[in-house]
Amino acid sequence: KVRVRFAPSPTGGLHLGGVRTALFNYLFAKKHNGTFVLRVEDTDQTRFVAGAEAYIASCLEWCGMKPDESPEVGGPFAPYRQSERKSTYKQYADQLIADGFAYYAFDTPEELDAKRKEIPNFTYGLSTRGDMRNSLTLADEEVNALLAANTPHVVRIKMPADETVSFTDLIRGHVSFDTNLVDDKVLLKADGMPTYHLAVVADDKAMEISHIFRGEEWLPSAPIHVLLWRYLGWGDEMPQWVHLPLILKPDGNGKLSKRDGDRLGFPVYAQNWTDPKTGDLTQGFKELGFMPEAFVNLLAMLGWNDGTEQEIFSMAELVEKFSIERISKAGAKFDFEKAKWYNHEWIKNSTAETLMPTVKQAFAAQGTAINDDVYLAKVIDLIKDRCNLLTDFVPQSVYFFVAPVEFDLPAVQPKWSAEKAAFFNAYAAVITDGLTAQELEEKFKELASTHSFKPGELMLPFRVMLVGGKFGPGVFDIAVALGATETIQRIQTALT
Ligand code: GLU
Repeated sequence: KVRVRFAPSPTGGLHLGGVRTALFNYLFAKKHNGTFVLRVEDTDQTRFVAGAEAYIASCLEWCGMKPDESPEVGGPFAPYRQSERKSTYKQYADQLIADGFAYYAFDTPEELDAKRKEIPNFTYGLSTRGDMRNSLTLADEEVNALLAANTPHVVRIKMPADETVSFTDLIRGHVSFDTNLVDDKVLLKADGMPTYHLAVVADDKAMEISHIFRGEEWLPSAPIHVLLWRYLGWGDEMPQWVHLPLILKPDGNGKLSKRDGDRLGFPVYAQNWTDPKTGDLTQGFKELGFMPEAFVNLLAMLGWNDGTEQEIFSMAELVEKFSIERISKAGAKFDFEKAKWYNHEWIKNSTAETLMPTVKQAFAAQGTAINDDVYLAKVIDLIKDRCNLLTDFVPQSVYFFVAPVEFDLPAVQPKWSAEKAAFFNAYAAVITDGLTAQELEEKFKELASTHSFKPGELMLPFRVMLVGGKFGPGVFDIAVALGATETIQRIQTALT
């Protein structure tokens, strides 16, 4: 039975690496008729950010990845917030201490700071193990006395010396770690809260997780998790590991971070995120005008492909085609231009009906109410090919709803003449409703030659009259959509 979990820490906005992890979990679950669990890993009180959990849930919803079990919807393994599962972790810490796999550590923050200054790249354990594992050198009575006196302490895992911890990662194959190089991680903090390491292992077991999809940055933590699983006596039936390749900066130089967006001029968050402490707003793909389908599609292609040249996939197709074997080991460079290409493809291939609500809303937001759906659908079909972002629709089509008041005169004026004005007066007189774009064009050409012009000399002025500038789809298509009355009106306004 496939059970996977997306296990974010509610420490801020969800960036695209996080959403991709959620997506691969989701795809695998759906492909195998399994269960997609959302577990909130909120044991680090110092990094907890109010509103982050709700934000994460809404990102998943926007992307169309509804969890089967979560803090919100509940489920057979509730609660799904680690802060609400505190008591179970303490029991495991006690068990590990009793069995000699973990120990109390009474080092004060000052002592640890001093060590960090003294020893470059200090890690607790390793070569420094001897003098750091203080409680291990204390007699049981001394430890008990310290505990009885409520001396602040943490619980640490006792990394064995000279062992190799190995496991199979479904992407990376055989992976092994030398325990001498892994530090004695804290399992239970001074405030009684578990750390990520203890909580993640306890909950993956409790929630019967079958596969762990997570970012490659967690690979170095895996040996700790493998040992904890073993030390807790849960046998060899561990969940299967799937460490996903990193998402890299556009130049391939290191991992794309949450801060890169501002610097590089594109969003890295799924949705807008406002930091509750500073009020700073970080823009998201959603608000910038990405379709959720396009966002999901481009995320899926960051480290996965189906082995063909196909690049456009719906969620349903991704579910059908997804396989761990086709996830790459190498990091995937994030290319924002390519991201926009995906969005453009999705917009282009969407029906006017699908796009209409969003476009209507965008117009409403800037004060233009659109009531004629048939007209709007026509407009959308005319311009969707020119939109990379959903936010392009208003600037690309506003002239269909509001006659332009500003005109690109420099483009037209130098070559303007009374003869051209005469042509347009004559042309306005022959425009009637019911003519097709082709018929309008034929009349335009005939009349142009009667007036001794090449049609090309008159096209741009016509466009500027209707649109205000040098953009938009075919000018006769625009005229048909606007209708005879409005087209004639715009020509006349421009001529006066
Ligand atoms: N809470 C971890 C995070 O914030 C989850 C890592 C894991 O999936 O094991 O990414």
